[in-house]
Formats: sequence, C-alpha cells, structure tokens
Amino acid sequence: MILPKTNRLTTEQLTEITAIVAEFGCKIQPIVGAVRTIYAIVGDERDELMINRLEGLEYVDRIDRIQSPFKLMDRRSDLASGRLTLGGVTLGQELFIIAGQCTIDPKNPNYFYETAHAVKEAGAHLLRGGVWKPRTNPYTFQGDTKSLDILLEASRRTGLPVNTEVMEEEHVRLALDAGVTLLQVGARNALNYSLLRAIGRAVGERTDRAVLLKRSIHMGSLNEFISAAEYIAAFGNPNILLCPRGTSPTLDGYRNHPDESITPLLKEKTWAAVVVDPSHSVGKASYVPACALAAVAYGADGLCIESHVSPSHGIGDDPKQAVAPEVLKELIAQAKQLWTLRRTAKAG
Ligand code: PEP
Ligand code: MN
Repeated sequence: MILPKTNRLTTEQLTEITAIVAEFGCKIQPIVGAVRTIYAIVGDERDELMINRLEGLEYVDRIDRIQSPFKLMDRRSDLASGRLTLGGVTLGQELFIIAGQCTIDPKNPNYFYETAHAVKEAGAHLLRGGVWKPRTNPYTFQGDTKSLDILLEASRRTGLPVNTEVMEEEHVRLALDAGVTLLQVGARNALNYSLLRAIGRAVGERTDRAVLLKRSIHMGSLNEFISAAEYIAAFGNPNILLCPRGTSPTLDGYRNHPDESITPLLKEKTWAAVVVDPSHSVGKASYVPACALAAVAYGADGLCIESHVSPSHGIGDDPKQAVAPEVLKELIAQAKQLWTLRRTAKAG
C-alpha cells in the first residue's frame, strides 16, 4: 500500500507508479478515503526492487507492507483510520440501527410505508426491506423488482437511507441506479466470489454507497469472512460492514447458531464495523431482544433487526421473527444504554 505525502497523487504521479508496478506484474487500485487517497498494490508486492523504486519517489511518504491474507481489511492497514457515516451515524461513535421488514410485499405496500415510519420513530437510522429474496423453497415468493419502487418511496417519505439484498449483477445495477445506499450480501452468497467482485467493481469509488456483508451460513473461519470483504475492498470502496447472523443450527430451538460472540474476535483482526443481525440468528421474535443486547455487550457497533407493523400480515421471515415497532423501540433504548455503559466501562 502506497501512502503519498499529499492527500492524493496527481495524474502524472499515478501514471508513474502504475508503470513501475506493472513491470513487476502488479496494478494500482486507488482507495478514496475521507481525507486522503491511498494506493493499494494489487498483486505480489514482495519484490524488494519494486518497493525500493517506489520508496525512492519524492512524493511517496511510505509503503505499508502488511503480511495478511486481507491486507486492506486488516486492523493494521492504513484504512483503519477511516470513518464510515451512514444515516447520520458515524460507526463506532453511536450505536447504529438498521430495521425494517424482511420482505416487502408488493401487493400491500402500505404495510411497508407504515413500518418505515414506525422504525424511524423507534430510532432506526437506516431502513431495510427485502426486494429480491433468497428462499430455500423454489416455489415460495422470490421477491419482485416492483418492490424496489416501494423501498425508495419509503425512503423519500421518511428521509431514511435504505438497504436491500442483491443476489446477482442485475440487482446490483438496479439497486445502485435506484439510489439504494447499503447493498446487502446475504448469508447464501457470502462466499460467491464473482458476486463479491461484481459488487466491488460497481461500488468502486462511489463512496456514498456501502455494503453489508453477512457471514456465510456454515461455520466459516473469521479469516474466510474477512477475506470475502477484501474482495469488495480491493476495488476501491472500503465502506463495508460485517454482519454475523448465526451459522448452521446446532441448538434445538434457535433458527441458526447465534454467533454475536465473534464480534471481539473480528475486531482484533479487522477495523471494519460489526453490525449483528439477531433476527436471523435466533429466528423467533421473542428471542430477538436478548440476542440484540448480547451483541451490544460483545461490542457490536450496530444491529440489523427485522421489524414489521403487523408481523402476522408479513411475508418471508416476518411472521416468525419480525418484532413489533413497540418492542423495537424498547430494545433500541436498552441497547443504547448498554452501549454507553460498555464505552465507559474500564475493561473491554
Ligand atoms: C434477510 O436479511 O432477510 C436474509 C435473507 O438474510 P440472510 O442472508 O442472513 O439469511
Ligand atoms: Mn429475513
């Protein structure tokens, strides 16, 4: 990673470093930060001669060579000093809340509009709503592109930025064009490297957009999870949130195996903010508040919670696991208290 002396390199300087690294089979990927742009060397950056030549340039401050399978997402990377702000919240400075329906019902858009207002009133900063849905059963409702209009209309009505899951390149294009701020990669696609690359390429230098990357469904290692994020960051956009959401069930009763406890371990390895999804983790509305609070106790920066004004009228996961807005409001208030308590506590 090349750290320049100035906030960004001139076109001539960029051309010069690109030519140098090309001699060694590498490429340059600029990563635009809030204050300065850094230049990742993509490829095998171990060649001493290449490093010496780059270090010899008068506009280069230093070269960071982190030995890590995920050199951009690594805690020690220069990107660790960046701060991501979404829905008016700077991650790490205030508990960040994403809430909304699992699935938007295109036949009943009013439920979604009401949910959008209710979650905003409860304290959510970003509205979620599933437009396209990965479903285990191919004969169940798979989502509908028409719901994208409903999602954006709810965003206009409430002023909240929105999140939706994308499962293929066409969804990525449609969601970005429509104005979706946060693209979600779901647990089923968490290791779909061609989709991760396509998202990385599409968000590229669009630093007003971010990606919520869920942990894959199997008990994947932390390095595997963070490396999946590296696929996206490698195209220049470091606005990535890591989302533990439970892994394959090992407990009778919970939908998945709650994994909020990996939060401190992730934080030792990466600078990325951790936003835990308790809804898919436990899979039942009555267990969601406890799981959400546990996540905050473990140090989560945010929560992603399914909520619906009338869960029994919802579709997808909503009848089972969406919490009512009154529950969400109480839960957010408690989670904020715990977050503050944790910040002021001496340990952890
Ligand atoms: C969802 O967010 O509704 C969803 C399907 O998530 P996951 O990929 O975690 O199952
Ligand atoms: Mn869901």
